[in-house]
Amino acid sequence: MPGFEFFGEEERKEVNEVLETGILMRYGFDGPRKGIWKSKELEQAICNTFGTQYAQLTSSGTAALTTAMAALGVGAGDEVIMPAFTFVASFEAILSMGAVPVLVDIDETLTLAPAAVKAAITSRTKCIMPVHMCGSMADLDALKAICDEHNLILLEDACQSIGGTYKGKALGTIGHAGTFSFDFVKTITCGEGGVVMTNNQDVYTKADAFTDHGHDHLGVDRGADLHPMLGYNFRISELHAAVGLAQIRKLDTFLAIQKKNNHILRTYMEQVPGISFRVVPDPAGDSASFLSWFLPSKEKMETAIEALKAAGIFAGNFYWFANNWHYIKKWDHLKNVNSLYPLNEAQQTALKKLQTTSFEASDAIMARCVSTAISLTWTEEQVHAKGAQFLKVLKEALS
Ligand SMILES: *Cc1c(COP(=O)(O)O)cnc(C)c1O
Repeated sequence: MPGFEFFGEEERKEVNEVLETGILMRYGFDGPRKGIWKSKELEQAICNTFGTQYAQLTSSGTAALTTAMAALGVGAGDEVIMPAFTFVASFEAILSMGAVPVLVDIDETLTLAPAAVKAAITSRTKCIMPVHMCGSMADLDALKAICDEHNLILLEDACQSIGGTYKGKALGTIGHAGTFSFDFVKTITCGEGGVVMTNNQDVYTKADAFTDHGHDHLGVDRGADLHPMLGYNFRISELHAAVGLAQIRKLDTFLAIQKKNNHILRTYMEQVPGISFRVVPDPAGDSASFLSWFLPSKEKMETAIEALKAAGIFAGNFYWFANNWHYIKKWDHLKNVNSLYPLNEAQQTALKKLQTTSFEASDAIMARCVSTAISLTWTEEQVHAKGAQFLKVLKEALS
């Protein structure tokens, strides 16, 4: 799954080119940087690799989501529909815009259930944010149709699904905008970083300015730039972009390994009694960074996890239902509005309502689900050995 497993000479070479000039910033210093523009080069590589017209790098995936919403005009009082299963960054970005996160149930795609999205739409809904969790995708045709019908923005959080596709198009390039994270545990990493992708020039121009204090970037003298709008500092550094540049060149290799390892593991897991797998709307587009599987009941899954732990082979497996960071059940800081600074009233009301909202439909899915992370470092032999061991332990535990 994560690119850090393949960190090496290529990354060092790119970083050293930046260190040799000493120009660690992505803008300005045209003379002393001697033609080294790693951030620009990475943005171009992202456009070429994923087939998007515009790419704006940011300091993180969270900053990318924030920037995308700002550029799309999502702000105070606007409701953004998001899934109850995601990383905390999704609601952090919404809250930072002054907007209201509306959490809804997931289905066996492990992200937004289209029917739950429909039921959550109000006159204040502005944006729908599917999160392509664990390497695979949302039912984008269904969600797009809902957006079209209600004139809503589709913003894809593709932070976990770099290299995945839906009907031939890269995840993150299908909505009005989409984001990747390049944090340390993502499919390709910059150490820290993120990107906003869009095919809309206006959205891109706004994202470009927003991430750099509102700079219009039209002149050659940074100090003389105009600031047509308010912005923040969500810039990536040249050092981080340099790492990403080496990583993106390895993406095809990463994906090929993931797909091969995932496929081998699955041939063993398929033989586990009662097992089923995550619904993938376009199986050919699964980036294969995880194999997510279900057992028929919560009790059976708990038995299985105990057995895997006892056998010492649960590491690298994620039972999200009991996880502090990825599922509504443990987000007490959100439900209790433990904010360091006052949130606006619409936000506070919406968050407190979560204390009594039922996520029964999601619970019924998440309590039966484990995602197995696919390592890039496993040899073919090791995957076969792992699969056989998993199968043996699970068969015994579930018989
Ligand atoms: C990692 C991640 C993010 C944010 O990424 P950072 O770069 O760590 O800020 C956002 N959404 C999801 C689903 C993620 O997994």
